Amino acid sequence: MRPVGEPLHPTARELPPPERLASYPPPERWDDWEEYDPVAWPRKVKRRYRLIPTICFNCEAACGLLAYVDRTTGRIQKFEGNPVHPGSRGRNCAKGPATLNQIDDPERIRYPMRRTGKRGAGQWERVTWDEALDDIAGRIRKALVEGRPQEVMYHLGRPGHELIYLQRVFHAWGIDGHNSHTNVCSASARAGYAFWMGMDRPSPDHANARFLLLLSSHLETGHYFNPHAQRIMEAKMRGTGGCRPGRARRRPCCWPSRAFSSSSAGIIAISSGAG
Ligand code: SF4
Repeated sequence: MRPVGEPLHPTARELPPPERLASYPPPERWDDWEEYDPVAWPRKVKRRYRLIPTICFNCEAACGLLAYVDRTTGRIQKFEGNPVHPGSRGRNCAKGPATLNQIDDPERIRYPMRRTGKRGAGQWERVTWDEALDDIAGRIRKALVEGRPQEVMYHLGRPGHELIYLQRVFHAWGIDGHNSHTNVCSASARAGYAFWMGMDRPSPDHANARFLLLLSSHLETGHYFNPHAQRIMEAKMRGTGGCRPGRARRRPCCWPSRAFSSSSAGIIAISSGAG
């Protein structure tokens, strides 16, 4: 019988005692990582993976992920956090590992499709990337050459870090038609950052701050800025006290601090009712 405290994982058994419990595979073994197949349990069937760093794009936090690519089938078996990603440090929200659902989604669009019937009729044909790009670029060029830049609009669901670059390109073309999820969601918070700090969503050193002023009821604690939220928690664990408001209907609440001493940060959060 396995002794109490003996790690199940074969690699964990090889590590020296103080390091036996590890949250992530060591990077030097990512090229050839071995795990038991959980589906085969209680049989111990080994599977070998190549761990490929990638990025979660389920929100703008863009946390690091590791794709576990099966070395035999070439398919992604699962996603887990990337411990060496400087922002998320291996700590993801539940949507990160759930990215696997998108990989295998039967309705996932894997290649360009062109509508062949009436709008809403659900009739499409597959086209090549060259055909799709030539078609779209041709229409944009025609509009620009004919002096109709206002007829071009760029829309995407959740803008990422390419946004600033794209905006410059569109502005250079004389196009101001940019629309995204951000227009109706984070715009107010980002405007606050821009007015106050002159920056778009900066990343302060929350963990080592001596004073944090949080505007809005759940700023930095949602999915949006997981990397910030985990560092605010680190500051709080170091002895931070402060205030956190409820939403508009509730009263603000305060948690005790270690007296706002030089070793502890103070947090004051002011509710605007906006997320
Ligand atoms: S916070 Fe969650 S959804 Fe957003 S990038 Fe990180 S893991 Fe993905």
